[in-house]
Amino acid sequence: MIKVVKFGGSSLANAEQFRKVADIIQSDDSRRYIVPSAPGKRFSEDTKVTDMLYECYSAAAKGKDYKPLLENIKKRYYEIINELGLTLSLEAEFSIMEACFIGKAGRDYAASRGEYLNGIVLANFLGYEFVDAAEVIFFDDNGAFDADRTNQILSQRLADIERAVVPGFYGSMPNDTIKTFSRGGSDVTGSIVAKAVKADLYENWTDVSGFLVADPRVIDNPKVITTITYKELRELSYMGATVLHEDAIFPVRKEGIPINIKNTNAPEDSGTMIVESTSKKPEYTITGIAGKKGFTAVSIEKDMMNLELGFGRKILEVFEKNGISFEHMPSGIDTMSIIVQQSEFEAKEQEVLAGIHRNVSPDSIEIESDIALIAVVGRGMKSTRGTAGRIFSALAHAHVNVKMIDQGSSELNIIIGVNDADFEKALKAIYDIFVSSVL
Ligand code: ASP
Repeated sequence: MIKVVKFGGSSLANAEQFRKVADIIQSDDSRRYIVPSAPGKRFSEDTKVTDMLYECYSAAAKGKDYKPLLENIKKRYYEIINELGLTLSLEAEFSIMEACFIGKAGRDYAASRGEYLNGIVLANFLGYEFVDAAEVIFFDDNGAFDADRTNQILSQRLADIERAVVPGFYGSMPNDTIKTFSRGGSDVTGSIVAKAVKADLYENWTDVSGFLVADPRVIDNPKVITTITYKELRELSYMGATVLHEDAIFPVRKEGIPINIKNTNAPEDSGTMIVESTSKKPEYTITGIAGKKGFTAVSIEKDMMNLELGFGRKILEVFEKNGISFEHMPSGIDTMSIIVQQSEFEAKEQEVLAGIHRNVSPDSIEIESDIALIAVVGRGMKSTRGTAGRIFSALAHAHVNVKMIDQGSSELNIIIGVNDADFEKALKAIYDIFVSSVL
């Protein structure tokens, strides 16, 4: 059995967290490949080392006084090293880094040092081999992740190493410069490593005990999702909470490797298991509810629309030309609504309207803003009668007016549009009917 274990920034924010991480790793012999983030926040007003590095680099690159910022970064690492009683010195590493900052090695290079240095410290503490991600994770000339080259070289390299630390978040470009994934990208590295070593499980250790059925900012103490499929997770992407980087599911998904979200501060909690498919019934009919405010519906009406060939394409072309992607497209016989993100739409509003008039000569166009979308997601819905009925009667009882309904063809989700002002009320009503009332 091989497990790849990734630890997020808060799991490695100080020496105490490092000890917890070492205990977790040492308590299971199969935890052989470790992917660390940079040290994160120790308390809520604290700054992540990654952000300190961006700031320090931009000062150095502009010729400003970066030294105090660099000192603070060094302090973060030496505090960990000293408190763990390690004899490791990072002075040579810091000198190279400083020279590269002055030589404008790039923001990505700067940010990557957070994981790089943390990887060296963690490898030293655990007695594991350190493998620099720059030697095994590759991007192509366009800056896209090069999955094939990476998998070939990374799997070869790790085949000979029993236990290793591979820092997250970065890799190298064909010209040997450093490039990072987007923020939170150590999750992606973990997934890539899991694929390369054909792991049985990818454990992603963070500071929460998994995905929650609903947003804790709206619902008090929501339940943890014990098992979720990759598809359900995608449907819940309105969740907002960044427990896992969206791109992290792709490398492992194809290999059938499950991801287990675990809590470094409560390792006994089973967390959330993310799987390709499962025979396990969800505890409640629904797996999760997620939503987001700030959408706009553009509704187009034209008599005999249904008979006009290419009508939908001509409408969508207008949005495409204006660089606006659409979220949903509910339609009637002579009407069609395009739901888009308000923030994307506002600036292009008049161009879009003119484009629609030009392309399809509609009878009318109506725009409605401040719409919230709520996705009710669950593999259990397929086999349960009355899910939609329960959702809408709960919303009616809560005096929430439903503006739009869209059921995905997979019967995995029902999307509901309500006024932004009703968002919290709607979320509570749905949570209550499916979760609280069955407890
Ligand atoms: N340290 C990086 C960030 O703060 C990457 C990561 O933690 O996954 O975004």
